[in-house]
Amino acid sequence: MDASILIVDDDPAIRKSMSEFIDFSGYKSLQAESGVNALELLKVKHVDVVITDIMMPDMNGLELTDLIKKDFDTEVIVITGYSGDYSYVDAIGKGASDFIFKPFRLEELLLRLKRVLRERQQAKERYMLLGKLERLAITDSLTTLYNSRHFYAQLEIELDRANRYRRPLSLLFLDIDRFKDFNDSYGHLEGDKVLFRIGQIINSCLRIMDSAHRYGGEEFTIILPETNGRKAVNVGKRIRAATEAEVFNPLPGKMANVTISIGATQYSYKEEVSAFIQRADKAMYLSKQKGRNRVSYLYKEESEQVKS
Ligand code: GH3
Ligand code: MG
Ligand code: MG
Repeated sequence: MDASILIVDDDPAIRKSMSEFIDFSGYKSLQAESGVNALELLKVKHVDVVITDIMMPDMNGLELTDLIKKDFDTEVIVITGYSGDYSYVDAIGKGASDFIFKPFRLEELLLRLKRVLRERQQAKERYMLLGKLERLAITDSLTTLYNSRHFYAQLEIELDRANRYRRPLSLLFLDIDRFKDFNDSYGHLEGDKVLFRIGQIINSCLRIMDSAHRYGGEEFTIILPETNGRKAVNVGKRIRAATEAEVFNPLPGKMANVTISIGATQYSYKEEVSAFIQRADKAMYLSKQKGRNRVSYLYKEESEQVKS
């Protein structure tokens, strides 16, 4: 897409000549006669770079730069005719990318504009790469769920919120039943397909605010903010049923089912994160003990009784 350049100057003749030159150079120019006008335009039009005069009635170019940098993702090049009145430092301090003294040749403006656009593009690419790396660092590559590192970080955030606002918070622990047998019968690759599919099933049963994590090899955890224990059990039941209903095809002509055991528990105000995690884990083991393929719930008090 052609870069879009907004020229702000109270002198119509200057606006016209700059605009013609910029369009001729292959960009798309827009014009505004004042800072107020420019800000109105920025609200409705995408603009990559604003080129603004400093000396204008009402709002000067530095004030405009300040407001643009606060509210818009737009670069600014400042132009001034009075070199004594404003310094390069003033303009850069407000967030401008470049500063030009009048009189200037349009070719010089073009060179500066090109550099600003190039740097803007590079900054965008770096930003996107950083985002990609950040996502990679918290994602489990096999299931595309979050990884265990993110689980601990996210749980701390949710615990903090639950304590601060006294909101309910629940946790589910999930473990595939007899998964070793599945791997032994059909191979590790087929087992991996099961892990991936269960990840999808889990996600399909969650709300946007919930987060699902691959906690270990064939274990998953789900953080359920704003959710009490009863609702958490219902989420667990939905996942359990959807998993059991899924038909796998690990060998030609061979149908197989997989089940999961789930533990659920609700956070108790101000309790330690480790106690909360252990209780969810214990609830999951209870499901294993009771015969697998089920959801078990542990209250904080019950868990203490189990311990003693
Ligand atoms: P249980 O019902 O008691 O949980 O039985 P289980 O066989 O699932 O439990 P166990 O802990 O004995 O075995 C877990 C198995 O999970 C062992 C391993 O083969 C399998 N597993 C762990 N990580 C992966 C993985 O990344 N891919 C595959 N395919 N299998 C995995
Ligand atoms: Mg396990
Ligand atoms: Mg298992």
